[in-house]
Parts: sequence; structure tokens; C-alpha cells
Amino acid sequence: MAKKPANAKQAARKKAPATTSGKASGKAEKAFFGTTSMDFLERYLNNASPTGFESGGQRLWLDYIKPWVDTYFTDNYGTAVGVINPDAKYKVVIEAHADEISWFVHYITKDGFIYVRRNGGSDHMIAPSKRVNIHTDKGIIKAVFGWPAIHVRSSKNDPTPALDNIFLDCGCATKEDVEALGVHVGCVITYEDEFMVLNKNTFTGRALDNRIGGFMIAEVARLLKMEKTKLPFGLYIVNSVQEEVGLRGAEMIVERIRPNMALVTDVTHDTQTPLMSKIQSGDVACGQGPVLAYGPAVHNNLLKMVIAAATKSKLPFQRAAVSRATGTDTDAFAYGAAGVPSALISLPLRYMHTTVESVSKQDAENVVRLITATLRSLKGNEDFRYIK
Ligand SMILES: [Zn+2]
Repeated sequence: MAKKPANAKQAARKKAPATTSGKASGKAEKAFFGTTSMDFLERYLNNASPTGFESGGQRLWLDYIKPWVDTYFTDNYGTAVGVINPDAKYKVVIEAHADEISWFVHYITKDGFIYVRRNGGSDHMIAPSKRVNIHTDKGIIKAVFGWPAIHVRSSKNDPTPALDNIFLDCGCATKEDVEALGVHVGCVITYEDEFMVLNKNTFTGRALDNRIGGFMIAEVARLLKMEKTKLPFGLYIVNSVQEEVGLRGAEMIVERIRPNMALVTDVTHDTQTPLMSKIQSGDVACGQGPVLAYGPAVHNNLLKMVIAAATKSKLPFQRAAVSRATGTDTDAFAYGAAGVPSALISLPLRYMHTTVESVSKQDAENVVRLITATLRSLKGNEDFRYIK
């Protein structure tokens, strides 16, 4: 989810819930996300995909979805699209964003410290003491966000991390030493933190926002293929770049595809943890199901279809009200290509834009089920206009 505006952010059951073929455990209850899916998720999340520099992650994603789609294409800035039924006239998009927040090398001091600039809504508060990867033409260069020791801070000199005082140390004493490593102004920087699972039910890591979305829409494609679902429309599985800096990839791809409708998935704030305000941010809980947004960009007739699909398939869901904008790619689809009926199916997430973003595995499964159930309810000739 992009930082500004800040206000928002079953089909599978014919037989047993589908699993990835191959190595999934042969016990009575198969995991919804099998071994192949989980291996991909881990590989995809651990690979950095900074805004504007997403192509490595997009290649991984395309390699994963190719078996589930008829064809695929990419655009100039790297948005990747898998297509089922490419010749169909009626076009349906399911979408997530591929980019992750990061930093830029902004200023290298003569004694070898590096000041940074944001690439997306990176959080200065969490920077001190983090290990980072600086991406250079010579490969990854390691560095750390340093910070004065607790011993030397006092009530008079106890700085709060801010954009103008956080700095990187890559073990160099001079600017020349830094440059000799291949680091220059404009290199992108990501945190080291990788994927892990807490208590077998919580996915945690860097930049689940929103690559968990790319994973979920890929799983929809896999489910449709494995269950041999025939769709009466063209399905465009879109992994957009550059969401974190203003929904830019979605703005581009909506004009290229000009779909008849779009189902967008992104993350939204769980509000159950300490220091969150339900009055400010609403009452959303990890583990309680996908979150359906209400707001001007969300098309009410499409939203009704999503709710009908959830009810029919007995899938849990929560509701959230957004203000002027959803703050997600939903806005770009809704207001692009002369207005595309769009709905937002969000995954509740804790600690957004930190390196320990956390979501419920069950919620992720239910987002996949809800998108799939909604697609199966479509006839491929829907006319969503309020007045006909
Ligand atoms: Zn975000």
C-alpha cells in the first residue's frame, strides 16, 4: 500500500482444497499452499524488488505463473501480466503490486558515511541498527544504519531518528573508499530481513506489502488451472510496478489493457496491536478474513458481487470505509481508461512498512478463495452501470 493518501489502505472445494502437485504432504489434510507455492513465496519475498527496479522479482513471478496461463506480456516499465483466454473480448483484471519500499543513496560524506533518500514510504524510525544491502553494478554491498550508543545520549542530546540524521556505514573511511565498492548516488538500498513463519500461522518479513499480493493472484491462476476451470472471459493477472510512489504502474497498465472490471488486492492495517487507534483506523483484525473496502472508487455493483460470492462460498470477510481514496491501485483502475468498475480485496497486515510486516496465512488463503469465487460467479458480459 502506498503511504499517501493514508486513509486506507471457493470454489476451491469441489474436491479437497487444491494443493500444488508434487511434494505436499500426503496426509488427509493437504495444505492449501503446498510446498511448491511456499517455496515460491519464500524465494519471491527474499528477492529484493525496489520501486523502479522490480525486474528481478518480476522474472521470478513470471516463471512461477507461466504454467498456469496461456500467455503473458510486460510493459516498458516492467509491469508483468499473465493472460488466460487472450482472445476473449470481455477482460477481467486481478491485480497486485510488485514493488517494495526502499532507500536511495543520496549523499556520501568525505569521511564515508551515506545519507539516504526515500524510495516510497520507508520509515526512518526503524532504520537505526538495521543491516542493509546496497544494490550496485558490482553486486550487493553490505552496510548498517549506525546510531550513537545509549551511553553517550542524554536528555539534552537524545536524537530521534529522522530523514536528515539517519546514516549508513559500509566500513569505509573516505568517500573514495565507498565509491571503490561501486556505491554511487542513486543506488537503491533494501533491508536484509527475510521471510519467516511465526507459530505456523503467521507470515512475517520484509515487504509482504504487497508481494504477498503477487503471490495470491498467482495462486488464483494456479487454482483455476488445477481445477480445469473454463472462464467465459479473458483473465489478466497483473503484477504492477511502482505502486509505492503513487500507483504509477497501474496507471500505465490500465490504459494498455482497458479492462471491463478489476479486482485489486493489497494489504491494509490490522488495528489490534498496541498503540493503534480503532477510532482513527477502524476495526480490522488479522485472522478474520479479507477486508472489503467501501469508498467512491469501489464500484458498489461489483462489491455486491464479491460479497455474494463470499456468502455463497461461506468465506469470512471484514469491512472498511476509506475516505477520498483507497490509497491502492484500485484508484488507478477505477479512474483510468474512462472508468473501470473496480473493487478492493485487502489482506490485513501488522506493522506496515517495517521489516516485520505480518499477515495471517489463513487470511491469505481466504483472499485467494474469495477472488477465485468471484471470478467463477462472472458470466463475462457484466454491465456494471448504475443507470442503464
Ligand atoms: Zn506500501
